[in-house]
Amino acid sequence: MPAIFFGHGNPMNALATNRYTEGWASIGKSMPRPKAVLAVSAHWYVSFCAVMSNLMPPTIHDFGGFPKELYQIEYPAPGSLELARAVQDLLAPVPVRLDESWGLDHGTWAVLCHVFPDADIPVVQLSIDATQPPSFHYELGKRLRSLREEGVLIIGSGNIVHNLSAYAWNNPAVHPYDWAERFEEQARDVLSKGDSAPLIDYQSLGRDAILSVPTPEHYLPLLYVLGLRREKEPVSFPVQGVDGGSISMLAVQVG
Ligand code: ZN
Repeated sequence: MPAIFFGHGNPMNALATNRYTEGWASIGKSMPRPKAVLAVSAHWYVSFCAVMSNLMPPTIHDFGGFPKELYQIEYPAPGSLELARAVQDLLAPVPVRLDESWGLDHGTWAVLCHVFPDADIPVVQLSIDATQPPSFHYELGKRLRSLREEGVLIIGSGNIVHNLSAYAWNNPAVHPYDWAERFEEQARDVLSKGDSAPLIDYQSLGRDAILSVPTPEHYLPLLYVLGLRREKEPVSFPVQGVDGGSISMLAVQVG
């Protein structure tokens, strides 16, 4: 199975048909059917490591101020206790609790409703432990590698560039900020060379990184996908574009 980082952007993409959502749908059609999906979403950013153990995870509408239709979307994929337990085992000795307090948040379902619209593949979410440094998240990705051979699709969902205070809500097609373009270009360059170190240590990349990643939660899911990359494995960018000047929609596919 490949491992894929999705730039999810605006939750309204769940209802839209645009070049991003069409790209997500093509990804789903281009790969063999996974046994299950393990998702690391920017929107489950908590102070502990947890894996979702619900057998019927609820669809969480974790946002405010959007049209009614967005709150009516349900993504009724089943969970998988078997996968949750496998994740616990692989990440040991890092303590990972089984959790039924969360469900599928929009980082996961707003993308998966286009990738796998039938919602018939089990989905499990892994939380992002906000108390840990970037290298921790990369290492967790590495420890999950064997799941790829077992038919599990692992996805990260966030955005490489995510600055909401600069986001042009009413003008999605506005030209990207220069710092957003430069940081995304730098990330692509590093990824194409098969290097991970500068992206793990992104906080040392200067002003463009500070503006592009003002808070870590949308960036960190990328580090899981980087950890899942095997030596010399090719990296591709199946979805590209910058939304509202300051949100990179870049998808990063490993394998
Ligand atoms: Zn988000």
